[in-house]
Amino acid sequence: MRIDDIIAASDEPVFSFEFFPPKTEEGERNLYAALGELRALNPAFVSVTYGAGGSTREKTIEIVRRIHAEYGLEAMAHFTCVGATVGALRSTLDEMRDAGIDNVLALRGDPPQGQEQWTQTDGGLEYSRELVELIAGDYDFAIGGACFPETHLAAADPESDVRYLAEKVQAGARFLISQLFFDNARFADFLTRARAAGVTVPIIPGILPITNVAQLQRITGMCGASLPPRLTAELAARSDSPEAVHDFGVAYAALQCAELLANGAPGIHFYTLNRSPATRAILSALRLLRPWDSVVHPASPSVTASA
Ligand code: FAD
Repeated sequence: MRIDDIIAASDEPVFSFEFFPPKTEEGERNLYAALGELRALNPAFVSVTYGAGGSTREKTIEIVRRIHAEYGLEAMAHFTCVGATVGALRSTLDEMRDAGIDNVLALRGDPPQGQEQWTQTDGGLEYSRELVELIAGDYDFAIGGACFPETHLAAADPESDVRYLAEKVQAGARFLISQLFFDNARFADFLTRARAAGVTVPIIPGILPITNVAQLQRITGMCGASLPPRLTAELAARSDSPEAVHDFGVAYAALQCAELLANGAPGIHFYTLNRSPATRAILSALRLLRPWDSVVHPASPSVTASA
């Protein structure tokens, strides 16, 4: 089923989980164990990332197919322009369609490892908007796109970043999933700017429960998400206890999600890192407390969150 239809038909927030294709057999076992546990939470959909340079192409498609067929969950394949000609992009899209996939997250992708600057592949595409156009022109997938509450790292400025985002939506992206962030005020500010730029589709905030400081530093180092100083201080105060960091991280993410949902967010996309306990704890607590019941104007595309 198309994710845009799922969001439109749902009178409650939609919760989704992101996974990545593992590199080892042990990683694969962990992924399917996490999926088995998270399935019980009945997510609206799950998504599977697409490795740098298309390195996980077959795996991404296979995992999405398996999640759908064996776990009965709606699933979305991430897809990037990296290292592929338009012909190669089309043949991957054909494969996805033939595998019964209904949903694609259309991304530009990051420069391949060892390369600082993004460069377009000869005969390929330069921006995600072009990939959205390609898909919308010739395929029936529901298309999602990425967005960046703190502005994309390589963007010239925040204004042009949301302007290009609006163009991507105009080209056919039906919903957006945000980069992870730790300060709801930044997301609220972004939402206001995106709506003002004419972005009317649902924008689902992406949340990473902090469970490990070294991992957090690696991820934020790559994607540029900032940590409020008080959050950094709380993590530093627990630097001698991984367990305390984990407990605090789960509590912080739960409160972050509750505030977003109480302010009208249409759902939460959890970056699970192929692990289940943190996401399970947070989503179970949210479902008990239902912070979205206190929304004054129920989730609609034009609702703006205020932190
Ligand atoms: P674009 O929309 O093309 O934007 C890239 C940059 O170009 C931005 O700075 C933008 O401001 C600028 N720009 C856009 N249009 C124009 C224009 N017309 N003229 C000039 N400048 C322009 N990466 C992976 O490799 N695999 C994944 O599975 C993956 N999943 C992700 C999931 C989510 C939810 C998010 C938020 C990111 C994900 N990424 C993934 C990372 C993503 O590929 C990178 O952040 C990438 O650098 C930007 O992708 P984009 O689709 O936003 O690019």
